[in-house]
Order: sequence, then structure tokens, then C-alpha cells
Amino acid sequence: MASTIMSARDLEFLLYEWLDVERLSERPRFAEHSRETYDALLDLCQQLATEHFATHYRKSDDQEPVFDGEGVQLIPEIGEALERFTKADLLTLALDEEYGGMQVPRVVTSACMSWFTAANIGTACYPFLTIANAGLLLEHGSPEQVERFVKPMLEGRFFGTMTLSEPQAGSSLADITTRAVPTGDGSYRIFGSKMWISAGDHDLGENIVHLVLAKLPDAPAGSRGISLFIVPKFLVNDDGSIGERNDVVLAGTNHKLGSRGTVNTAPVFGDGAFTPGGAAGAVGYLVGEPHRGLSYMFHMMNSARLGVSLAATTTAYTAYLKSLEYARSRPQGRPLTDQDPTRQQVPIIEHADVRRMLLAQKAYVEGSLALSLYCSKLIDEQQTAETEADRLAAGQLLDVLTPIAKSWPSQWGQESNSLAIQVLGGAGYTRDYDVEAHWRDQRLNPIHEGTHGIQAMDLLGRKVLGDGGAGLMALAGRMTATIEAAIALGGEAATYAAALKAGVDRLGEVTFALAGLGEPEKIMANASVYLEAAGHVVVAWIWLEQLVAAGARDGDFYDGKRAAARFFFRWELPKVTPMLDLLASGDTTTLEMRDAWF
Ligand SMILES: Cc1cc2nc3c(=O)[nH]c(=O)nc-3n(C[C@H](O)[C@H](O)[C@H](O)COP(=O)(O)OP(=O)(O)OC[C@H]3O[C@@H](n4cnc5c(N)ncnc54)[C@H](O)[C@@H]3O)c2cc1C
Repeated sequence: MASTIMSARDLEFLLYEWLDVERLSERPRFAEHSRETYDALLDLCQQLATEHFATHYRKSDDQEPVFDGEGVQLIPEIGEALERFTKADLLTLALDEEYGGMQVPRVVTSACMSWFTAANIGTACYPFLTIANAGLLLEHGSPEQVERFVKPMLEGRFFGTMTLSEPQAGSSLADITTRAVPTGDGSYRIFGSKMWISAGDHDLGENIVHLVLAKLPDAPAGSRGISLFIVPKFLVNDDGSIGERNDVVLAGTNHKLGSRGTVNTAPVFGDGAFTPGGAAGAVGYLVGEPHRGLSYMFHMMNSARLGVSLAATTTAYTAYLKSLEYARSRPQGRPLTDQDPTRQQVPIIEHADVRRMLLAQKAYVEGSLALSLYCSKLIDEQQTAETEADRLAAGQLLDVLTPIAKSWPSQWGQESNSLAIQVLGGAGYTRDYDVEAHWRDQRLNPIHEGTHGIQAMDLLGRKVLGDGGAGLMALAGRMTATIEAAIALGGEAATYAAALKAGVDRLGEVTFALAGLGEPEKIMANASVYLEAAGHVVVAWIWLEQLVAAGARDGDFYDGKRAAARFFFRWELPKVTPMLDLLASGDTTTLEMRDAWF
């Protein structure tokens, strides 16, 4: 029976028939690998996700992490699943060999990880945060910090967090107030309260390594005055053994709508609950240079945002597969052409309106997955393409696509998750089926790692207008190549190529018109509409790419790809016209609205 976690066939198509991942083995970094390795890894991930992650998805939603005033306890299945994950060497899949990694391409790593984020996003968060934390320290930490903190993380003994947000500083990290005071021995004492920190306390490993943003006493105001510190829950002795308890405790935990398996915490640093070395204050170690903490974090941002892209995509993907399975087995009603009440009812998938809901989900989730994997492959290109020019071009394209890859699956994944509930009817609204939980999980994705509005300003302000439109032109160049390939293919593909060309041209004109408005407030007022219109154009391009890759091949799988591409071009792409019209008009309704008028 086909899995309802992910589609192995779709992953196979995207990796081998579209992205031509096998050719990456021609590059020295990936020379050890072949399709055989990739297939074995994908099979292993499917098996582990099915047998050890999906199995406690419901339980971890029902039985939230418990904070007893001192520490947090999780259901045991989370620890058991993570032990298997670590033993299978999955923590280090993409890492350099010198750190014990396998140097698997990022695009394959993302495909592998998709099984875990789809099966149980709440459990998958713990290793994913640890991998992100370790990745940052490998790039910016000292060899001594790597030895003391990163190695145990990569062995699965320590876990990591990203401790940025504060109650008064979420989108605006420049306004953090956590302080770092030098002690004179090379270490610092950290004082302050953080908020929303995922995996901030738990009983999974021997230690938790918090990466904390804080300000030094002489720090300049704003984002240029933020430094990054390692603050472990327990100090680590010179021989690597666990030392004193550090002065970091929880003020409490946050009770979330979804993704409940990942504990969300409000940690307090340095309030004197513990006195390491005989004094209050959480012991911290500076990472890299003073005042450069936010820029180190921003290095991680593309990766983190692509992580959200994958989580949003797979949260919608698994719900789509579950609603598809239900639609095939739920008898209800009869065909319009044969209403004889003595006849058996037909499965609901026979009704055109249910097929509409399934097809919309298919177009959203397969479009999102393709976009997400395309961006992962750009990371490989940025790292390993043969020429410097190709590496730079990949980086430029990745920069402009990242806000879209983060936001589009988060927004349309939510719509997709809602349709999955609708397909199940009343059953979808109960807790007897997973689809409602996936819908709740999904709601986080437009909020964290930069909200939808922040992504919109990033796209229009920094990525498009900030570099004089060069990134957008580069993207348009890639789209033009696809349009030409689709025209050469002829038939339906050529029709959609013309529609995409019209969309790309119009997006370019509207961007030019927006730039001409001159005043930043006016330009940015409708940035979210710009993000959404650009997102639909980009996903239309990604669907045209898939259509070209499917070519004229026979079989249900390829017919399904063609039907979903058709749906996207006929039902979805036309939605950008009113959005682009609104943007072109320079509408100032939102800008002019006054607080008192609400
Ligand atoms: C479940 C969960 C897990 C999280 N995990 C972590 C974690 O592990 N580590 C961590 O550091 N943080 C974490 N966060 C915090 C998350 O990154 C923030 O919630 C997010 O950055 C938004 O900040 P905020 O909640 O303060 O909202 P705000 O910044 O107050 O934003 C509220 C609204 O105002 C809008 N807005 C804000 N500023 C502007 C502006 N300048 N222009 C236009 N619109 C604006 C936003 O788009 C949003 O719609 C997590 C949050 C959640 C909910």
C-alpha cells in the first residue's frame, strides 16, 4: 500500500527525472555517491519515519511536554525515535567528512528529511535545531568550541537551540535587551529573558547548547550591536565531562496550537537560580567577534527558511495523501447521471468537487515540494558548481527565491490543509483523524523564521529593489529558458509557456512601476501582495519545469503531473492578474487607514 506520509514516486521523479541529481556525483565533493546510495538513504528514512516517527504523531499532540517547575518531560517515544535517527548517522548526512559527515548533497538530504517532517514535525524539530546550531558553530565557532560543544551534538548526546526572540523583540531583533558582561577570564555572564524558544528544556540528552543573542556593555545601538554566545545548560569540563549546572532556568512553557511535541519555552538567564563558579549569571562564551552575532545568524537564515519551506510543504503533503486515501474509501452519494437510490453509493472521489479539492492540494503540495528541492539544489550549486560565476549565480537566485520558498508553501500549505479537512467532511473536524492536527501544525509556518509580512519586505525591499532588480532579472532569465523548452515541446506546454511569459513580463513592469513610486512607505505598503503574486508566478514556472520533465511519457503518474500543471495554469495563475493590477495602481488604502477608524 502506498505511504500516506510522503510520495516516494514523486521524490524519485523530482530528484532523478527533473533535477538530475545523479550528475552531482561528477563533482569531487559528491564523487563517493551514486543513485544507489541516495536510494538506500531514502528507503532508510521512509522506514524510520514510518516505524518510529509517524507512530507517536497523535500521542505527542495529545500529551504535551510537561514542565514541573524544574524541568520538562517528553513522552518516551520522542527520545526513542531520535536515538534511531542518530544511530542511522542522519544528524551528519550533509556535513563535511572531516566532521564525520557523509557529504550527501543538500537536495538529497532535504528529500530524506521530508519523510521525518511529514511523519512528525514535532519530533523532527529537535534534531533539526541541533543540526542548525552545529552548522553555525562549525562555520563561526573556535576549534575549542567545536570540540567541546559541536562534537557531542553531532553524536546525539547534546541538543541545540536558537535563542533569539524576547517578549519585546520578535520581528525586531535589534531591540533585544539580554546583556552579556565580560568576566575577565574570557567568558561572559548572560542576563535576560528570552521567549518562544523551541526545545529550550527537555530530558532528551546530557546537555542543551543554547545559541543566545545578547548585547555587550559597549554595544552600538540596533542590529550592529548584537553578539552571539554559547550558553550551555550544564557547563562542560575540560575533559568533556558534564560540570556544574549553569544559571539558566525556565519561567514557563508556552501551550501551542500545533506542533506540540516540540516544547516551547521562556528561558531566563542569570536570575540567580544557580550560581556556577559561586556567582549568579549564566556563563556564556562569545562566538566569533563581538557585535557580529546577527550577521552570523543571517548566514544560517537561508537554511533555516528552507527548513520551514520543507516543513510547510510536507505538513500539507501528508494531509493531502491522507485525504486522498479517505476519498477513495468513503462511500457517499451517487453520480449525477445515475441517482437510482437502490444502487450502491460511490466513493466521494467520484464527485468532481472532491476531485477539485484533491487536485488543488496536489498542485499546491507537489509545486511546493519541487520549489523546496530546487532551492536545496541551489545550495549545492552555490557550494560546488564548477565555475565561480555559476556559484555566484546560484547564490543570487537562492537569495531572491528564499522568501518565496519560505512563504508560498506556508500560505498555500494552510489552504491545502484546510481542503484536506474539507474532503473528510465532519470526520475532518474531529480528532479521530490527523488532518486537523496537520492544519494546526501548519499555522506556525507563516509566523516563525520571519513572518509573512517580514518575508514580503525582504523580497521587495532587499532582494528585488535592493540590488537594482538584478536578482529578479536573473530569475526571469531562468524562467525564459524554461519557456523556450516548453515552446519547443509544443501542445499544452507551449500554451502554458505563453501564459507564464505574460506573467513574468507583467511582474517586471509592475516592479518597475513600484520602484517609480519613490517613497519607501508607498512602495512597501502592499509588499505582501507582491510576495504572493511573485510566488504564484514562480510556482507556475516550477510547474512548467515539471511538465517539460514529464515530456510525453505515458502512465498514470505522468498524466497526474500533467493534470496538476493544467490545474495550476488554468485555476491558479490567473489569480495574479488582480494582484498585479492593484500593485500597478500604487494603491494607498492601507497606508491611509488611521488607527482611530478601526
Ligand atoms: C511555536 C514557535 C516557535 C518559535 N521558536 C523560536 C525559537 O526556537 N527561537 C527563537 O528565537 N524564536 C522562536 N520563535 C519566535 C518567532 O521567530 C517570532 O514569533 C517571530 O519572529 C515573530 O515575532 P513576534 O511573535 O514577536 O511577533 P511580532 O514581531 O510582534 O509581529 C506581529 C505582527 O506584526 C507584524 N510586524 C512586525 N513588525 C513589522 C514591521 N516592521 N513591518 C510590518 N509588519 C510588522 C508581523 O508581520 C506580525 O504579523 C518561535 C515562535 C513560535 C510561535
